Amino acid sequence: MNIGIIGAAGRMGRMLIMAVNATDGAVVAAGSEAPGHADLGIDLGVLAGIDGMGVNLGDDAAALFQASDVVIDFTSPKVTETHAKLAAEHGTAWVIGTTGLEAAQQDAVTNAAKKVAVVQAANFSVGVNLLLGLVETAAKTLPDSFDIEISEMHHRHKVDAPSGTALAMGHAAASGRGVNLDDVSVLSREGITGERRSGDIGFATLRGGDVVGDHTAMFAATGERLELTHKAASREIFANGAVRAAMWTQSQSPGLYSMKDVLGF
Ligand code: NAD
Repeated sequence: MNIGIIGAAGRMGRMLIMAVNATDGAVVAAGSEAPGHADLGIDLGVLAGIDGMGVNLGDDAAALFQASDVVIDFTSPKVTETHAKLAAEHGTAWVIGTTGLEAAQQDAVTNAAKKVAVVQAANFSVGVNLLLGLVETAAKTLPDSFDIEISEMHHRHKVDAPSGTALAMGHAAASGRGVNLDDVSVLSREGITGERRSGDIGFATLRGGDVVGDHTAMFAATGERLELTHKAASREIFANGAVRAAMWTQSQSPGLYSMKDVLGF
């Protein structure tokens, strides 16, 4: 399977080069970055801190989609619409992990999935995808007297908040309660907020250091509190999950798939 990695010099991109390289039946077909990037021309293996692989970092996204059976994309929402068009034009499956998409960018992903297999996940780890199911079950099982709050912490370089995973947990909790997250979410709090409204799903965001990703869903009632927590210690778990998703697309028809589909949950 020829796998292209777009955003190959990023934190996730470098991990993905290693993960693809370590996967039987997969080769890194191409890697690209934004035009003008300082690392253009460097061998992808060297970039990832492993042996040279004879494929250099380029800046031609169209050529990358052309050369690949599937492209793994952990970049920026600003380029999602362009990548969606390229995936559809070249008939290249697409695994997208970029978070913080606006509505038009999400629509572009949905449209691309009419032409090719697309796997999109706010979090590619096995543990987080199990957590999403547990959060939905807890929200469905516990009475409304349990207040739901979601907290997350990430490294100081993260640019979007709350994290895509925290929002996915919010959607899972809302789905368990049979409500729409947009109607009940409180994304941040400040000043004299008044008392907590029953049924709200609140979010709290922390940023600092090199934290890869901590997430907790809290179900707080009078007299007891249930907490479901996941802690990521390495980006390797996301890269391995994304490569697993990329290999899975080989046998899939066009459509928008989640990591739950890949894992068979
Ligand atoms: P990063 O900033 O280290 O890497 C992003 C890379 O994309 C950069 O190297 C940047 O130069 C590159 N890029 C930007 N525009 C480009 C273009 N036009 N063509 C090619 N490359 C381009 O960030 P990161 O920590 O690797 O995270 C990237 C994204 O993935 C973020 O949205 C983050 O939230 C998300 N993420 C998702 C998961 C998941 O499991 N879904 C896990 C970790 C990170």
